[in-house]
Amino acid sequence: MTPTKTVLISGASVAGPALAYWLHRHGFAPTLVERAPQLRDGGYAVDFRGEALDVLDRMGLLDEIRALDTGMGDAAMMDADGRQYATLPAAVFAGDLEVLKGDLPRLLHEATRADVEYVFGDSIATLEQDADGVSVTFEHGAPRRFDLVVGADGLHSTIRALAFGPEERFVRHLGIYTAIFNLDNHLGLRSTGQLYAAPGKAANVFSARADTEARAAFHFAAPQGLDYDRRDRAQQKRIAAGRFAGEGWEVPRLLAEMDAAAEFFFDANAQVEMETWAAGRVVLLGDAGACAGPTSGRGTSQALIGAYVLAGELAQAGGDHRAAFAAYEDRMRPYVAEHQALGREGAERFFLPAPTQEVLDMLAAGAPEHARTEPIRLRDYEPSS
Ligand SMILES: Cc1cc2nc3c(=O)[nH]c(=O)nc-3n(C[C@H](O)[C@H](O)[C@H](O)COP(=O)(O)OP(=O)(O)OC[C@H]3O[C@@H](n4cnc5c(N)ncnc54)[C@H](O)[C@@H]3O)c2cc1C
Repeated sequence: MTPTKTVLISGASVAGPALAYWLHRHGFAPTLVERAPQLRDGGYAVDFRGEALDVLDRMGLLDEIRALDTGMGDAAMMDADGRQYATLPAAVFAGDLEVLKGDLPRLLHEATRADVEYVFGDSIATLEQDADGVSVTFEHGAPRRFDLVVGADGLHSTIRALAFGPEERFVRHLGIYTAIFNLDNHLGLRSTGQLYAAPGKAANVFSARADTEARAAFHFAAPQGLDYDRRDRAQQKRIAAGRFAGEGWEVPRLLAEMDAAAEFFFDANAQVEMETWAAGRVVLLGDAGACAGPTSGRGTSQALIGAYVLAGELAQAGGDHRAAFAAYEDRMRPYVAEHQALGREGAERFFLPAPTQEVLDMLAAGAPEHARTEPIRLRDYEPSS
């Protein structure tokens, strides 16, 4: 068998660039195609837990990541009249280390751009596999051929749709929607945040970028799902505003800020459930194949570790993609299953109802039992360079 050389990766956020990094170190030639015209910011903060820090260390990026730590302290739970009634320890929401989501793709891009081909502003349009490779057409660029294709293009993955089937078959809605936007730090928050919860909804605001600005979020329950246009931001803002009309605390101010916000994110909290992540020469990585949902707090770690394992198994198997994809699934499946259970529990127990005293007491103890998962044992794959 000819060893695999060229790998096309769709999506340049976390999983995609991390995979490209490891593939290059193992002697493969990765190309990344990203639909956005440049690296995306994403607004919210993401945290890392456990072995993801080990992967970042093996990539030589741990010190740089640590320097970007939001350094978030404990946050305040506020009532409708603006009085603090509980404290939420930072360990609960900021993991072992927390950075703004946009910082991570930027850092991974800097670590890979000299060795890896990046194509921004394009998307794979069609994939056709044969015994020797995959013929790919793009929405804009000329057709090309690769040995393998990896879908690292997130919850709404194009590669999953092209190679496995429509989104409805694999995406499981957790019954919660989230809107996130940027705003001035009008509360003068210093490395902290405030949270407000009412039955079926929660809002928060955290300081960001060394307290020079702030990020706010509205979360609300909609168990039956919502019918809306994923490209229509004005409609999404109206939906979120409708859910929070009449609420107390800082909500009226936040609603006005959301209306004016330039950076705005809106999506369902969802998981991706698939029987297999591989279809011939195409494989899924990160949220595209195994999204555990924001309520798991594990998606970034999962993307980084999955990238390390997939590249390592491809190297180990000498490019035999069948053996490598099977080994990658074997290693990642138990870890993903645990995170998905965590994501479902997080949605049911901590998000939908207003927090009970029991939940508040548990959170205040700083080590909620729901946040503990079995560590994944990282195998040592010998990089060729
Ligand atoms: C509100 C929120 C809060 C979160 N909080 C946390 C947290 O605290 N801790 C944590 O670990 N995780 C958290 N997550 C999850 C985390 O962001 C994801 O698990 C992680 O970003 C997954 O990385 P990924 O690279 O697989 O996918 P994504 O980050 O979703 O990236 C997909 C990339 O693919 C690109 N793309 C999409 N379609 C195409 C296409 N057709 N062609 C080319 N490119 C395409 C996108 O532009 C994007 O750059 C949170 C998620 C959300 C939504």
